[in-house]
Amino acid sequence: IVRIRGLRKSYGSLDVLKGIDLDVRRGEKVSIIGPSGSGKTTLLRCINRIEKPSGGHVYVDGQLIGEKLVGDRYIDMEDRELARLRAGMGMVFQRFNLFPHLTALQNITIGPMKVLRTPATEAEAAALALLEKVGLANKRDAYPEMLSGGQQQRVAIARALAMRPKVMLFDEATSALDPELVGEVLSVMKQLASEGMTMIIVTHEMKFSEEISDRVIFMDHGTVVEQGSPEEIFRTPSHLRTQTFLRAVL
Ligand code: ATP
Repeated sequence: IVRIRGLRKSYGSLDVLKGIDLDVRRGEKVSIIGPSGSGKTTLLRCINRIEKPSGGHVYVDGQLIGEKLVGDRYIDMEDRELARLRAGMGMVFQRFNLFPHLTALQNITIGPMKVLRTPATEAEAAALALLEKVGLANKRDAYPEMLSGGQQQRVAIARALAMRPKVMLFDEATSALDPELVGEVLSVMKQLASEGMTMIIVTHEMKFSEEISDRVIFMDHGTVVEQGSPEEIFRTPSHLRTQTFLRAVL
């Protein structure tokens, strides 16, 4: 459902992504691991085009993201169209980025109402069901500052799901949390995985990655060094760089 071809991103002379090719099947859970600075976050941000890639193309469900092919030239698509496509990719960030002036419920309904033009009553009913799903039905009227980091992150997941995404992108969704709050967010992610959601997960949680993933991708210096089943990557990595990294983090 996700097809990435020759994706490159440079900041000045720094080549952060050096030509990434990656396919993710519908319902597949792919986690991306690798050292700090290897380009994992940049890859996610280029997939939903928060960052504009320096080269290469991303397709979701067969649709080119952020560009149109006119004749044999790629041109940028209109912002409105990009916003609509971006809505099909739920993104959960490291830092909970809820709107501080909106309640949990309003944080979830605003996207569907503004972008999908869902009527308010319908958006609210759906948001309540999602709050229930992430175990926060009783926090519907709470503002973000009244919620713990783990609760905020669960609202952020519900907010992403409200847009009925085709794929969910998680960027180190638990790394800013106090240790005792990590579990509640991972368990919501596990539940989503078991429901068949397509998920691309950048994570430092190796055990979680091993449990949840169909495939693990090891990145270093802007390239995919190695990929395989969790068993292959965590037990019998074939590249020295993967071995060295895992030895340092496990
Ligand atoms: P981490 O695990 O620490 O989050 P990462 O693998 O996700 O690391 P990225 O955040 O993708 O790595 O960053 C890759 C490289 O790109 C880093 O060297 C970073 O400093 C650089 N970089 C990222 N964003 C920018 C930017 N906006 N301008 C300049 N350099 C950037």
